[in-house]
Amino acid sequence: MTILELENVSKTYGGGPTEVHALSHVSLSVEAGAFVAVMGASGSGKTTLLSIAGSLENPTSGEVRIDGRPLSSMSRNDKARLRRRSIGYVFQDFNLLNGLTAVENVSLPLELDGLPAKKAQAVAMEVLDGLGLSERASSYPDQLSGGESQRVAIARAVVGERRLLLADEPSGALDSTNAEAVMRLVLAACHRGVGAVVVTHDAHLASWADRVVFLRDGRVIDQTMPPAGPESLLAPSPEL
Ligand code: ADP
Ligand code: MG
Repeated sequence: MTILELENVSKTYGGGPTEVHALSHVSLSVEAGAFVAVMGASGSGKTTLLSIAGSLENPTSGEVRIDGRPLSSMSRNDKARLRRRSIGYVFQDFNLLNGLTAVENVSLPLELDGLPAKKAQAVAMEVLDGLGLSERASSYPDQLSGGESQRVAIARAVVGERRLLLADEPSGALDSTNAEAVMRLVLAACHRGVGAVVVTHDAHLASWADRVVFLRDGRVIDQTMPPAGPESLLAPSPEL
């Protein structure tokens, strides 16, 4: 089952002499449960790729499908609902709301989606508990360390029945211990069937992924595939 599909997606910013081709003819499929890492130099289009995949921006051309549904056919309301229910987005700088506690930050998407506050907070507490953060639930973001903030941001991105996790350098600001903890959370989500696309500049962290996609100047220049399983040896050879 394909959760996310980008088909021949291009994105151009500006026009005339200042035109920037942030993405050129990018195609990418992410299956349920797959963990895809995206690597590339600064300015290569990684953030643009994630924001288009997350329906935060529209492509200039090409199509994006989430759970088989083309985004181009959806209204703004449809897309907003999709972002509340199905897509978890983790920003590099956490983007937690400072006026809300950790548990309120995590329960917010559920409340926005109509779940009563008490119920939403109970679900959020469960997720925080699973991430070893229950004792920080009533802390405000400025009372949390960087590692704790990013774990809360991930909790917010995976709460509910989310199918797609998009994370933009979620470990960029963290030391290696916290960065690995973040990657473990992503892996755990994938084991539950979530498809994940994670931007990282750390090759060691990228090696945890099933597949690494390399971007340069808005183009996919390389993709590593998981090694073929033994069943590939049993497939009939094409020339027979
Ligand atoms: P990365 O995340 O890999 O650093 P980005 O996707 O942020 O790269 O940017 C890709 C290119 O698109 C860069 O040249 C950047 O300057 C340009 N770009 C990104 N967003 C905008 C925007 N809103 N307006 C104009 N140019 C942009
Ligand atoms: Mg970026």
